[in-house]
Formats: sequence, structure tokens, C-alpha cells
Amino acid sequence: MKKFKSISMLLVCLLLVTVLVVGCGSDNATGGEGDAPSRLAVATGGTTGVYYPLGGAFASIISENVDGASANAESTGASVENVNLLNFGNVDFALVQNDISYYAFNGIEMFDDQEPMDNLRGLATLYPETIQIVADASAGINSVEDLRGKRVAVGAPGSGTEANARQILAAYGLTYDDIQADYLSFGEAADNLKDGHVQAAFVTAGTPTAAITDLATTHNINLVSVSSDIAQTLIADYPYYAEVVIPAGTYRNQDEDVHAVAVMAMLAVRADLSEDLVYDITKALFENLDTLSAAHARGGDVNLDTALDGMSLEIHPGAQRYFDEVIN
Ligand code: GLU
Repeated sequence: MKKFKSISMLLVCLLLVTVLVVGCGSDNATGGEGDAPSRLAVATGGTTGVYYPLGGAFASIISENVDGASANAESTGASVENVNLLNFGNVDFALVQNDISYYAFNGIEMFDDQEPMDNLRGLATLYPETIQIVADASAGINSVEDLRGKRVAVGAPGSGTEANARQILAAYGLTYDDIQADYLSFGEAADNLKDGHVQAAFVTAGTPTAAITDLATTHNINLVSVSSDIAQTLIADYPYYAEVVIPAGTYRNQDEDVHAVAVMAMLAVRADLSEDLVYDITKALFENLDTLSAAHARGGDVNLDTALDGMSLEIHPGAQRYFDEVIN
């Protein structure tokens, strides 16, 4: 009995120590004024995508303009991984697709076996992310149906790209059983296309995407279109898709416009970050948009007029306070 008691005491002590260490280990500000300086983490995506450079620019806007705060951008598997990191407090901000954040917040689609992620809030929507289907020009892939039997990169594990690949294939009556699916980041997909290990890749990202630009300089590619009928079917099932065009000339040797679908990139923030801190950061972001446009062309799309278009999460009160002040 005595032994049992001391083991229990030991467990209680261990638990207390763990709580204290975890509690003190994070110097993220959750309170109001007077907090210790905040070191904040921004979850992005692979290094050859668009989240990574824009997340880096956002982190430097915070570090340079928000008193007492500094931020770092982290490379990740992208949207699905990012909502998990954010919801469980491992990061403070995340770049994420608006379709994926909606599914996560509501506990549906790929999150239907998880509790709804109620620690996610919106800061702003940013720019369109086009689902680009890139094929090796010599593989004879001219439509999504032609992907049948081919080895296809469907996005990194934990990416929003991978969810889009599954949904678009399904709209054409295909599943992963009909293709050979490889879970690859954009950079890995480009390398594997170059080496002939995969014949096509799905890439959901702002255009031009560095991984595709680099690939197209040394390799002949073609972009596969999504027909308007299929786009409409997709939009009926998943309202966050929109029909878009990838303009001719986006990539080397791309002579024609290509029909595609897109979702929106957005910045999400932890619900439990303090209102004052999120207000200061939202203000700093919209007062330093030139830093975003210098990091990537799509950074130039970010503006106050469209900052709430396609918003799929409740807005964080700190961001809302800023928008209320500046938007009439
Ligand atoms: N939207 C992509 C995803 O979540 C990532 C895009 C990027 O890295 O720019 O899968």
C-alpha cells in the first residue's frame, strides 16, 4: 500500500513538472499587455511552394513592426498538417487553404474522425491557389482521364493538394486505385517528373509556382485542364472551389490559357492568442503589403478589399477590430 502511494505521488509530481515545463516552455503570448516578448511560429509548406516565401515575409513583418514580438516561418507538409499544428498550439499562425480550414473547423471530410478544431480563427484571405495538373509532355496525358494507370504525384502527406487531387479524380470517376499515387512535395514531384519516375503531379499553389517554373525550364511539360462541366460539379459538392484560368505564358512554352479550379490561401491564427497581439499583427500586415509582394507575385493580390472574401473560419477578434477600424 505504501509503495502504491509513493508511486502515485511520483506520478502526480511528474505530471505537475510536465505541466509546468510545457506551460513555461512556450513563450507565446496568450495574455494581454505586459507579457514577455512573444516568439511566434508561422506554419507554411514545402520550400518550393508559395506559402514558404510568403510565410517568411509575414514573419519578418511581425519581427520588424510589432513591439515585443518576433516570428519564424517553418517548412511543413502544408494545409492539413498546418491546421493540426495550429489547433494544438504547436504554431501560432498558419497558411492554409480555405477549403481545408473549413473541413477542419467543422470536423468533416478528412477530419471526420477528429473533434472539430475549434482553436482555429481567420486573420485574412490572401490569394487564389490554383490546382495545377502538370504532366510530362511525352507521357500522352491530355486529360484527367489519361491519368489512369499512370504514376502520379498527389501532394505531400498532410497537404491540401492531396485532398484536391482525390476530389478532382473522383469528379472524373477515378480513385487512387486507378492510378499509382505517390505522396510527394512539389520539389520532390518536380525531381521525379524530370527523372521519369512520375508522369504527372498535382500542385495546389499560387501561380507561378517555383517548383513548376524550375521544372519547365529544363523539361517539356503540359498543363492538363479541368473542364467547365467538371468544375461546376466540383463547386456544387465543394463550394470553396472556383473556376479560373492559368494564363498563357505562366510557364515556359505554355502557349494557351488552361482551364482549372482554385481555392483561396488564407492566414489562420490560434483562437487563444490575445486580441491585442492579433490586432497589432493584422495592422502591421496590412501596412506592409509591399513586403509580401516583394516575396512572391501572389503576395501582390493581398489587400483590404478582398481580405474577407472566401473566409471560411470565424475571424479572430483582434483581426476583426482592425477591419472594423479601416473598412467602412
Ligand atoms: N496549398 C498547398 C497545400 O496546402 C501548399 C501551397 C504552397 O506551399 O504554396 O497543400
